[in-house]
Amino acid sequence: MKQWFPALFRWLADQLFPSVCPVCGNALGKGERTICLSCRWDMPLTGFWRAEENPAAAMLRKQFPNLRHASALLYFRHESGYRTMIHALKYGGRRDIAVALGAMFGRELRESSLYDDVDVLVPVPLHWSKRMRRGYNQAEEICVGLGRSLGIPCDFRSLKRVRRTRTQARHRDADARRKNVAGAFRLRRPERLRGKHILLVDDVLTTGATVSACAEAIAAALPDTQISVVTLAVVRKYLRE
Ligand SMILES: [Zn+2]
Repeated sequence: MKQWFPALFRWLADQLFPSVCPVCGNALGKGERTICLSCRWDMPLTGFWRAEENPAAAMLRKQFPNLRHASALLYFRHESGYRTMIHALKYGGRRDIAVALGAMFGRELRESSLYDDVDVLVPVPLHWSKRMRRGYNQAEEICVGLGRSLGIPCDFRSLKRVRRTRTQARHRDADARRKNVAGAFRLRRPERLRGKHILLVDDVLTTGATVSACAEAIAAALPDTQISVVTLAVVRKYLRE
């Protein structure tokens, strides 16, 4: 019985965290965790976190002028394994990838002094019905990883999605996306976040309509907060517009 146990545990762990790289599909080697070393090395990083002025911050400030800082870890490329990786953490139940990338991003943010005074991590919430269907909110898992490497607490309860919105991916242009999410978020018990520097966290930055609607909901309840935004990936196309 005792000899069975480690083997059973390994088998279970492999079911939960398949030991192949979600980017290239190759088996993970010894010492490699979640994403293989070569795919970590080749990751199309933006480097936005090193500069106060960067394309993501510029795009978001057009929608939310009081934004402190913004950055994304990597570029979302449609024809690449990195897209597969983002889809796996978003729709495929791979919460471990979201946590690993969050932790990796946290280590990069630590190198930049811009995020030193962040007090709390707040994920972009899912509507409860969608969260129930999916089983988890990927933005919360990213927060868990970020929180671990930054040593900053997460707040999963204050910001709520009060209205179900249609999936943003169906809305092609920025205007339609803004209308889709306007008024969809509300801050509950705002006193918990009063006077704080809040880091809003999401998986993919497209037009910025969703995070801007979140920032507006927070600012409406608490005008004295500072708000920054980080996302794992950014779609380059929207940065050019
Ligand atoms: Zn790989």
